[in-house]
This record gives sequence, structure tokens and C-alpha cells, in this order.
Amino acid sequence: MLFDGKTGAAASELLRQARKSVMDVAVRPDIVMERGEGMYLWDTEGNRYLDFIGGWAVNCLGHSPAAIREALQRQAAVLVNASPSFYNKPMIELAGLLTDISCFDKVFFASSGAEANEGAIKLARKHGVKNLGGAYEIVCIENGFHGRTLATMSATGKKQWEPLFAPKVSGFRHVPLNDFEACAAAITDRTCAVMLEPVQGEGGVHPADAAFLHRLRQICDERGIMLIFDEIQTGIGRTGNMFAYEHYGVQADVMTLGKGIGGGFPLSALLVKEKFNIFEPGDQGGTYSGQPLAMAVGSAVIREVVRRELPRNADTQGKYIVAELQRLAKKHPIANIRGMGLLLAFDLPAGQGPNLVSECLKEGLLINSPNAGTIRLMPPLIVAKGEIDDMVERLDKVLDRTSPLSIVCS
Ligand SMILES: *Cc1c(COP(=O)(O)O)cnc(C)c1O
Repeated sequence: MLFDGKTGAAASELLRQARKSVMDVAVRPDIVMERGEGMYLWDTEGNRYLDFIGGWAVNCLGHSPAAIREALQRQAAVLVNASPSFYNKPMIELAGLLTDISCFDKVFFASSGAEANEGAIKLARKHGVKNLGGAYEIVCIENGFHGRTLATMSATGKKQWEPLFAPKVSGFRHVPLNDFEACAAAITDRTCAVMLEPVQGEGGVHPADAAFLHRLRQICDERGIMLIFDEIQTGIGRTGNMFAYEHYGVQADVMTLGKGIGGGFPLSALLVKEKFNIFEPGDQGGTYSGQPLAMAVGSAVIREVVRRELPRNADTQGKYIVAELQRLAKKHPIANIRGMGLLLAFDLPAGQGPNLVSECLKEGLLINSPNAGTIRLMPPLIVAKGEIDDMVERLDKVLDRTSPLSIVCS
């Protein structure tokens, strides 16, 4: 019998079916999410969750926003897919919007962040062949994150990933964040690019120093090396500016976007300066590149983010969250409160991250632990003061309850 997908099934039955047929690539709690609105998600049992994960820094406009619903309906009625071999109107509109709001000149679209980064890696290698005598190495940062395809896993500087899926794609070297001397030492005649996140997201929210980025820009210019900013997590208002590079006053040659650009719809982009607009027909593509539904959503998201000045809200509310966390830090063992805009993190006594996440879940609050000692907050950019107060209150309550935590660390 075919699965009838009927709604109203008890969570226990849905979970039984999930365990039977859904691949176990993540440890998931015993919850099935059913509905979302604004800052909240509801599970099939009707429990409501205040969402400070935001679809993993994705749902910048919150859950099921009118702008995305309307864009999808409007575009679905006109054209769902014409094939990547033709231009379509929403593709032209979104490319124009992105080049208007950024310092870049040309855009290639894809569906996931990893795919956009794969494009950037290929572009860097093309640059190496064309302009740098066959240079192919890319210098990346330890503890960085660039995705889960084989090449982007190889670019990712996560120690735990090193032994996985060997042999990896070769040609990536890793240096510590903000260590310019190490970076300069890793750059050789074989180097075609330097690739990094202006603020490391998955690595636990670690911003690059301004001086580091300025010096990288300089050495890349001197050596003719491509500088790539992975703004998949930091772009589209997340850090309090439309793009994180604006905080630093450093422009890359290439930038990748994902996550927030689709507000929850699968969409990513590779943006280049004209000088590095070197792909030729046949070099890069993808069945869903420029897919009209995704393009329509992307335009709707950008227009909303601009119209509602959400980067500014991210800045204001982010500062408020930091102040509130600092208040909590006076009575709870939380430390190293850091981040920019609405990409924030703090540290907990060793190994307590996952425990706090599951305790907050019971309290109807969704937060994320990118590693065992760290909690990351990345709520939708629409978050308001009242919801922050609510989050802080629940966090306070959970930290009180898990008081052994405080004893361990005081
Ligand atoms: C999430 C993320 C990626 C990967 O994006 P996917 O859509 O999961 O492929 C790449 N780089 C950064 C900085 C990210 O945060």
C-alpha cells in the first residue's frame, strides 16, 4: 500500500514511518514539524516553538511570509520551468537586483550553497589555468565551512571531516583565521585563490579581523590571486548590513550567497566582478540554474529585506540580544558572547551545548549548538523585542533548571 501522507496521524505513527523510510543523516528529536508562521513553528501535536534557528539562518522573513507565498503563486501560474538554456524574466530581474545591491557585476544561480561554492572553486581553477600558469591551490581557513559536496568538504576546514570520504579533492590548504603570516606563507606560485567566510558561521561565529581581510585583499591584488567571500550565511542582512563585507570595507572578487537569499526556498548565487567573469559557455551550468520559481522568490525576498530595512533591524535587535545575554552571563555560566547582527553565539562549559538545546526544546525554544561548547542564535531578521524577551526568559529558566551546569563551571 502506498503511504497516503494523511495528516492528523499521531506523532508516534509519523515517527515510526519516518524511522522506516527517511535516511538517518542527522540526529533528530521526536518531533514532526507541520506549520510555520513568523517567528514560530508548530509540530503535529500542536506544540509551538519560538524559532531562533530560523531554518538554519535561512528564513530571513520568518516562516511562510506573504511575500514568498505570493511570489510563488504568481510565478507558478505563469511559468514554472523553461529550462536553463533560455533566459526568463524573473532570472533577469533577480540578477539585476543582486548587482544593484552589491559591488558585483554578474550572477550565476544555483540551488544550494555548496553548489554556488563549487562554482566559485571551478572559477578559481579556471583563473589559475588562464592567468596564473596552471595554479590550482586554494587557501582556506581552519574551522571554516563551505558545504557538503566532495570539493566543498575538502575546502571546509573542519578537523573531524579530514578522514572522511578519502580521497578528498586535492588542492586546498588551511590556515588559522586572522593569521595573516600563515596565510602569506601558504600562498605560493600554485595558489589561484583565497576563500573564506567574513564571519565563520558553522565554525561557531568567529568574525575575521578587519586588518586580516585588508591584508588578504592586498596580497591577492599583488599576486593576481582571486579573493572569494563565502557570504552564504552572512549575506542578505544577517550581520546588520546587506553583506558582511560592507562592515569591513573590503570587496572580494567573487562572492557566494545562499541561505537567506531564498528565505527558505532552495536558491543560491555566485557573483563575480567583471574582471573575473571568465566562465565560457559549457564551463558551468545546472538543470535548476535560474529556475523561475526560485528567481521570483529571490526577488521578493530581496525587495522585502530592502523595503523593511531588515539589515538595520538585525543590527538593532542583535545589539539588544547581546545586552540581554550579558545580563544573563552575570548569573549563569555563559561566556564569550560574540557575533554581528543576528548571527550570534556564546560559549558554555565544555560539552553542555547539546544538553541546553534539548532542554530549550522542551521549553518551546529552538536554538542551535554548532559545537558542543557553543550556542548559536540566528533568528529570522524580522525578530522583534518582545520575542527576544521571550527567548531570554526561557533561556534563563532553562539555565536555572540545569543548575548543575552552573555548579560545574563556577
Ligand atoms: C550553509 C553554508 C554552506 C552550504 O550551503 P548548503 O545550502 O547547505 O549547501 C556553505 N557555506 C556557508 C558559510 C554556509 O553557512
